[in-house]
Amino acid sequence: MFGRAPKRSDSTKYYEVLGVSKNATPDELKKAYRKAAIKNHPDKGGDPEKFKELAQAYEVLSDPEKRDIYDQYGEDALKEGMGGGGGSHNPFDIFESFFGGGVFGGGGGGGSSRGRRQKQGDDVVHSLKVSLEDLYNGTSKKLSLSRNVLCAKCKGKGSKSGATSRCYGCQGTGMKVTTRQIGPSMIQQMQHVCPDCRGSGEAISDKDRCQQCKGNKVVPEKKVLEVHVEKGMLHGQKIVFQGEADEAPDTITGDIVFVLQLKDHPKFKRKSDDLFVEHKLTLTESLCGFQFALTHLDGRQLLIKSNPAEVIKPGQYKAINDEGMPHYQRPFMKGRLYIHFNVEFPDSGDLSLEQCRALETILPPRPHSHLSKMELDECEETTMSDVNIEEEMRRKQQQQQQEAYDEDDEPSMPRVQCAQQ
Ligand SMILES: [Zn+2]
Ligand SMILES: [Zn+2]
Repeated sequence: MFGRAPKRSDSTKYYEVLGVSKNATPDELKKAYRKAAIKNHPDKGGDPEKFKELAQAYEVLSDPEKRDIYDQYGEDALKEGMGGGGGSHNPFDIFESFFGGGVFGGGGGGGSSRGRRQKQGDDVVHSLKVSLEDLYNGTSKKLSLSRNVLCAKCKGKGSKSGATSRCYGCQGTGMKVTTRQIGPSMIQQMQHVCPDCRGSGEAISDKDRCQQCKGNKVVPEKKVLEVHVEKGMLHGQKIVFQGEADEAPDTITGDIVFVLQLKDHPKFKRKSDDLFVEHKLTLTESLCGFQFALTHLDGRQLLIKSNPAEVIKPGQYKAINDEGMPHYQRPFMKGRLYIHFNVEFPDSGDLSLEQCRALETILPPRPHSHLSKMELDECEETTMSDVNIEEEMRRKQQQQQQEAYDEDDEPSMPRVQCAQQ
């Protein structure tokens, strides 16, 4: 690797690692591995990298099929054939399957400080629907979940005696390798989980099988978790129960993770620590003042009122301090409550001519832009029609896209212009 010419067809490295010749017999390989692996075991102060290399080399060369591929095509062919998993086997597993457990004293139980490598179990993720009220006030929810736990009767061994034998189908590796000739000098190698032991590499005889878990090593258990939703938590925030996911032998139990999903609120919208609410005013209220009660998320009634002589314009915002959302983990601090005002004007025909005249005496005068008779004569008459401007713009855009599409599609077609009448 280090600085060497990279293009060396690498089908000698494994032999060099074990210190044997290319035509070493299985027995010679075994002896070489035994000697080197004990000497280099990390528990005996050996170099972990060297230990890994040895295991890898032995794993390949001790398997006639793999050794054949390695001899012909080198290390890379093995990696490719095995879906990239060629060198990723656990060197401690290989060591143990060679020597059996407890090589380094203690004898049963205690054994090596490293023991078997533990896998990291998967986390289980649930989404948890919460209302804005829940996040404002805080709440706790009890959830009943089913999880796998190690069988108490057999302590997760699956057998009464605690013993398991090696699976016959996969020789204890948990994986099966099939090779297929796909060309004159090409072999495709596929690795898949052993169907007999479902990847565990172990077999338990029917007589010895644990009655409680039927050899599965785990049993389902119902568990009630109490999820505390704290004030001010956010949509998407995670609440983690460490090590509460499914248990499995030789596995570090994963976490149960709840992800908060905020449900839409009919009245309030939240933006970080602020709340937004829409409120409709009549024209009279917007001009002459208003007051109303707003029910907050904790049920309190807030009195909202305008200042004397205050005019609220359509689309205007007002803010109330400290009536927004509580800050997470500092719930005594709160954001702001914004009120967005809409003003409802009277409809056409609602005001009589007299009322209009009366209003005109109160409201500011119209701008002075009287047209003379002559000026009027020079003007053309027009008619204004009602439009839904969003609808109109959307239709126009669609039309343009269609035209662009037609242009691309049929360049020779004569174009028809739509003239405005
Ligand atoms: Zn059991
Ligand atoms: Zn198997």
